[in-house]
Amino acid sequence: MPASASLIAVNFNRGRFHNLSTFSDFGLAEPVLRAVSELGYAEPTPIQQQAIPVVMTGRDVMGAAQTGTGKTAGFALPILQRLLPAANNSASPARHPVRALVLAPTRELADQIFVNFRDYAKYTGLRVAVVYGGVDINPQYAALRKGCEVLIATPGRLLDHVGQKTVNLSQAEILVLDEADRMLDMGFLPDIQRITALLPTPRQNLLFSATFANEIRKLAGTILTAPVVIEVAARNATADNVEQLIFRVGSVEAKRSAVSKLIIDRNLAQVLVFSNTKIGAGRLARQLDLEGLNAAAIHGDKSQQERLATLEAFKKGEIRVLVATDVAARGLDIVELPAVINYDLPFQAEDYIHRIGRTGRAGASGVALSVMSPVDERLLVEIEKLLKRKLPSENIEVVAAARREPPGRVDRPRRAERERNAPRAVAKAAPVGRMPGQSDDPFFFEPYRPAQPVEDVGGDDAQPAATSALDSRAGRQQRHAKTQLAALLGGKKF
Ligand code: AMP
Repeated sequence: MPASASLIAVNFNRGRFHNLSTFSDFGLAEPVLRAVSELGYAEPTPIQQQAIPVVMTGRDVMGAAQTGTGKTAGFALPILQRLLPAANNSASPARHPVRALVLAPTRELADQIFVNFRDYAKYTGLRVAVVYGGVDINPQYAALRKGCEVLIATPGRLLDHVGQKTVNLSQAEILVLDEADRMLDMGFLPDIQRITALLPTPRQNLLFSATFANEIRKLAGTILTAPVVIEVAARNATADNVEQLIFRVGSVEAKRSAVSKLIIDRNLAQVLVFSNTKIGAGRLARQLDLEGLNAAAIHGDKSQQERLATLEAFKKGEIRVLVATDVAARGLDIVELPAVINYDLPFQAEDYIHRIGRTGRAGASGVALSVMSPVDERLLVEIEKLLKRKLPSENIEVVAAARREPPGRVDRPRRAERERNAPRAVAKAAPVGRMPGQSDDPFFFEPYRPAQPVEDVGGDDAQPAATSALDSRAGRQQRHAKTQLAALLGGKKF
């Protein structure tokens, strides 16, 4: 908890806001209510019931809400309500300064918040704009020049604009940090600190995070003043309307076939599949597509246009299987997504919660299936420790997919073969390299660096990138891992 903060935990199920069962009960203005009603929102979700009245009072908020809970409207609607007196029709940009700044970790999430905010602001006369990295900066100049009361941004690109003096934050009276845990994971802390130093005080600060890890509490302590703490679900709990199952396969190579078997056997109409690596995502999508499952991959090596087009096609149901890395999938809002499959168990147990939060959204039921090979056991232990319960598991028999070796590749023993011959050696080699079994490339030892700072936003630059195994640091580590493995194998060279 922030040391200086006086905390008021609000429980609306038993508290004074118990009977706020419609949006008009909040006292929101007509233009905001009209937009909400057009979107077909019949009643506020629990996070909205809790957050809207508090944000309307101008208090700081530290909110823990699972993805898909309606969190965006939980802060966007009261922000619009608070900014309404500033709405005007003037053509002068000076009359439309940035009054609310929303920071988000990825382009996809920023874009999604923008779309929601724009919909909610439709009748208010307030202007909403978004800036994020990985795309041409020029169209963003135009949007900023016109002026906007609400600006949604990823930290890196926002600082680019600050540096070029194309944005002025001196009148921002509200700051929202959305998915703050992910921003810290991605190394955005220095950027966040630089940005908050540019904002005037006092101001209203809202911080949302899937979990309240210690680093988040520390960040909250430096930014929030006497925040109201809002926790909708129990800390680190997963949505209870999501059925979770683990499927054990005999080898890493069998995981791809297991994913396709699960999709076919369970007749999953649409599924989001998570891979820990960009290269793994691409390979899996190609295999599933070859099997006629209509699959595509979305990850940071794809251009922003490609990613948005793929996402759009998936949302429209034109793509059945979307294979994604964590960062690329972050914040994806796909209504009624029936299933999520973990092709790889995540390295960070918290990511398991983020991933399965993609299904079972807004009260719908969903299913989260995870495939794992024996080498993933440690990752499962971490997840179950976090969830504080065992996940049901069963064995699944599949034939490992045939592996296509690239032409001219030296014939070396396959990972499974090495594991059979020297299981202890592989397990011991893990600490110097990546988690064993997480890549389907037998000689891929690039270490996983979860809190890697990234230069630009959006994209999964923080993901373990197979291509970067070519860089000198990874090369050194790869050689080191091989040497260690060779030593463990009794000096045998391979
Ligand atoms: P979020 O957690 O903000 O990403 O919202 C998840 C989804 O729920 C989005 O598609 C919203 O449009 C939708 N949503 C938000 N609030 C409500 C509501 N009160 N009733 C129905 N759907 C909602």
